Amino acid sequence: MRFVVQSMMDPSSLTAANYLRRAAAAAQFVIRADGVFDGRTGRTGEVFVAVQNGLIRSVGESRPAGDVPVLDFGPDSWLLPGLIDTHVHLVFDSSADPVSALGPLGDDELLVRMREAAAAHLDAGVTSVRDLGDRLFLSRRLALHTRVDPGAGPHVVMAGPPITTPGGHCHFLGGAVDGIDELRAAVRERARRGCSVVKIMVSGGNMTAGSDPATSQFTHAELVLVVEEAHRLGMSVAADTHGVQAITDAVRAGVDTLEHVTFINHDGTPPPDALLYEIANSGVIVSATLGRCPQAWAELPDEARKMVDQWGVRFGELHRRGARLAVGTDAGIAPLKPHGVLPYAVVELIEESGLSPTAALTAVTVRAAEACGLADRKGFVAPGMDADLLVVGSDPLADPAALHDVRAVFRNGIRVRGGRPRVDV
Ligand SMILES: [Zn+2]
Repeated sequence: MRFVVQSMMDPSSLTAANYLRRAAAAAQFVIRADGVFDGRTGRTGEVFVAVQNGLIRSVGESRPAGDVPVLDFGPDSWLLPGLIDTHVHLVFDSSADPVSALGPLGDDELLVRMREAAAAHLDAGVTSVRDLGDRLFLSRRLALHTRVDPGAGPHVVMAGPPITTPGGHCHFLGGAVDGIDELRAAVRERARRGCSVVKIMVSGGNMTAGSDPATSQFTHAELVLVVEEAHRLGMSVAADTHGVQAITDAVRAGVDTLEHVTFINHDGTPPPDALLYEIANSGVIVSATLGRCPQAWAELPDEARKMVDQWGVRFGELHRRGARLAVGTDAGIAPLKPHGVLPYAVVELIEESGLSPTAALTAVTVRAAEACGLADRKGFVAPGMDADLLVVGSDPLADPAALHDVRAVFRNGIRVRGGRPRVDV
């Protein structure tokens, strides 16, 4: 492990970053803002969050006693958990053809790109991402890097390359398997390499020539094997699902998150209502593919926009039936999906899917933390949680555009983005 870290960083800078990280994490300070959304509810009024050793120590309405500096982010500032994106692809560059762009890159060149992608998430206030489509296991190196140097990018939860079929969806990322034995071996390999989630392409997908999103690549029985083996080894399962059969099989196999859930078919019939209820009642988390760059959206053909709008409507139908929604942007796969696009998903959840502002913000914080297996550490502003925090310039419940006015980002108690606040000592 040490060798891997040193191969990507100058050892002297690693030591410096380590030193700074330890020094900053040991510091105690208090953040003051004029409102807070804690991951479940929001309120206007002064809030003081005390941070120590990288963790939230207390949350209250008055300044804690003691000689601790207060970082005051000024009038109208709001504090919330760092946002969490449940589905990104750090290896993809958000170009019109990210697959071709990836092809000629060696691992070291690709890591440079992945670091840029990671930094863009952090700029947007995204402090954790789940990488569900890695090439081989490169995101492990990035995860180590951002753990040592939190300012380099978000906390990375990794799946390694998605498990797929030979020639199947995203086979070029290195996760193709053939038959039950290889399927089981692939799950075990991910556990060995430190993944905490297994990603499986249950449906075909749009990025891969010859692959059909409406058609399943794996059977229900194969999915049961993957879920049993992954859970036995302490990993969750994220299922890429578009077609009705794939969604049905994945839910019944007991996967932990459903990615996309677009109900794509060839005749345009709506999904059976019974399936929407089955998804809601199963407790699976729907990782809704939302979040769009406004400029790229404006340039999209009408037909494509209609299709994407329909997804938003379906997520609303699922929400009203009681399904648990998080947001996975699929960042990296197209110009519509630049890294750090997650804040745009909040207004889409409100305006297109009909969620309340509170429910929309919960989807990108508490619920997303659950989807990523981080609920005991992240996504919620409460004592004992990691001090992964976002400070914005106004109330995001009144207007989600506030999320684009980032005043500061903290990761594990370290200020990693934002200008200098007033400090009262
Ligand atoms: Zn994806």
